[in-house]
Amino acid sequence: MDRRSFTLGSLGLAASLAAPVPARAQGAYRGPNVVLVRFGGGVRRAETIDEAATWAPYLRHSLAPRGTFVPDLRIDKLEGVNTSHAEGTLNLLTGRYLAYRDASEFLQDRLEPTEPTLFEYLRRSFDIPSHQVLLINGERPQEEFFTFGAGDHFGIDVRSEMLSLHRYKLYRTRMQLAEGGLTDEARVALEEERTRLLTTDPRGATPDPSPQVEAFWARWRQGFGDDGLRNPRGDRLLTELATRAMTELQPRLMMVNYQDPDYVHWGNPSHYTRAIAVIDEGLQRLVSLADADPFYRDNTIFVITPDCGRDANPLAEVPFQHHFNSRSAHEVWAVIFGPGIGKGVVDTPIDQSAVAPTIAAAMGFAATRAEGTAIEGAFL
Ligand SMILES: [Zn+2]
Repeated sequence: MDRRSFTLGSLGLAASLAAPVPARAQGAYRGPNVVLVRFGGGVRRAETIDEAATWAPYLRHSLAPRGTFVPDLRIDKLEGVNTSHAEGTLNLLTGRYLAYRDASEFLQDRLEPTEPTLFEYLRRSFDIPSHQVLLINGERPQEEFFTFGAGDHFGIDVRSEMLSLHRYKLYRTRMQLAEGGLTDEARVALEEERTRLLTTDPRGATPDPSPQVEAFWARWRQGFGDDGLRNPRGDRLLTELATRAMTELQPRLMMVNYQDPDYVHWGNPSHYTRAIAVIDEGLQRLVSLADADPFYRDNTIFVITPDCGRDANPLAEVPFQHHFNSRSAHEVWAVIFGPGIGKGVVDTPIDQSAVAPTIAAAMGFAATRAEGTAIEGAFL
């Protein structure tokens, strides 16, 4: 029995996966919910999983012992692999390296997947509406491209939906223009704002969000208004979007793309460590909600892992960037817990391409184009 069938067999899924992946959705999804948290913006092990030095004590001391802890997850040192945010995120979502292409015409750093993402595999394997397969993003426009790939066999019909401040602004400007009652000046300003938003993200308004996501934004607007001053900022906003989404939309697969530790590129190292602590607080809210809500309790797997590491260069002005292909920029980790997941520390190196197949195995589909295999020993 090879590693793959061992892992799947131990989940009781080998039989259902022996057949080729069907071309179309094949019925209701009955597996566990999965919340994939990108502990993102690039973090080093030193400030996150080091037992004594961590700035994320909830992650390290409460969550890691709840399941499978992979302290030595690695981004492979392949030719052309960048240790960066979009790249690492797409490694996590496709289970491959370099499975993207540059989608930018005028702006830098727009990668779109060229291989199926977990969202697409899941919706192709099961009948799950788009609003229950969610990507929660910050406001970086380069991350608005991850909801579906550019390949022939997967794509827009099996995409996830995205919740981000950018998407909210698209909703708000559309509604405000439709509602009318504006002065000429206000209308022109709004039209300009909307044009700017659509230029940043040409795919943002195509197709329109589902009615459920429209209703989500209507409630958000009621709560936070049109001025943009009342909603939380940065990664706290992602936590707010994610917890509301869990309550209101009940996603079966949700990825939360935290990113603020990356502000260390431009500033003081304390921005980095504070941002790690803010993500740790976000994790507490997400996990507490899942532990308390009957829809999630005992039926939800959390997978927490960074997009990339950061450099460790004490001589540089800002000692930890992540663009120098250094060893510690390749060094990440993963914490996985929930029903069916074993407890313990994986004491061998695991490749980052294992994350997508592990999630696939937990949810009962095969990420057929992934290069990695599910983490051996992660499952009970
Ligand atoms: Zn960065």
